[in-house]
Amino acid sequence: MKKTILVSSCLLGCKVRYDKTSKPLPKEQLIALEEKFNLVGVCPEVLGGLPCPRQPAEISRDREVLTQSGQVLSTFFLKGAHEALNICKNYGIQLAVLKSKSPSCGFGKIYDGTFSGCLINGNGITSDLLLKNGVKVINESELDAWLKTVKE
Ligand code: SF4
Repeated sequence: MKKTILVSSCLLGCKVRYDKTSKPLPKEQLIALEEKFNLVGVCPEVLGGLPCPRQPAEISRDREVLTQSGQVLSTFFLKGAHEALNICKNYGIQLAVLKSKSPSCGFGKIYDGTFSGCLINGNGITSDLLLKNGVKVINESELDAWLKTVKE
């Protein structure tokens, strides 16, 4: 039986990003994923109650999520992260393929909170919570290499 994995909705083509666009995976990658897994798409920011479109946000040094004008969105981001974790628990999901650099979904590298395009080491709010609860996280950039390691 196929395992179920979590995938950022924007990677599946849903227009849920802050600017109401998506970042769909290349067709071949999506087909390869769908052949091997059941995919559950989530957008933690929408699940957390934020509208679409919305102001872009970044994580500050003290782990608050802020818009460029200083609006604090941390509560929405945390709610979305917990909703995503609940979905993982309900479906027995142990792996999440999440969109790189996002303040929710980013893994390994995120923007530094200055809205200047600079990246620092760190994880988005959802990635962080999933990792702390034993869910493996990879970014879409690691997908090809990871798919090669998946046993049929
Ligand atoms: S929160 Fe995640 S799924 Fe939603 S738009 Fe941002 S990167 Fe994509």
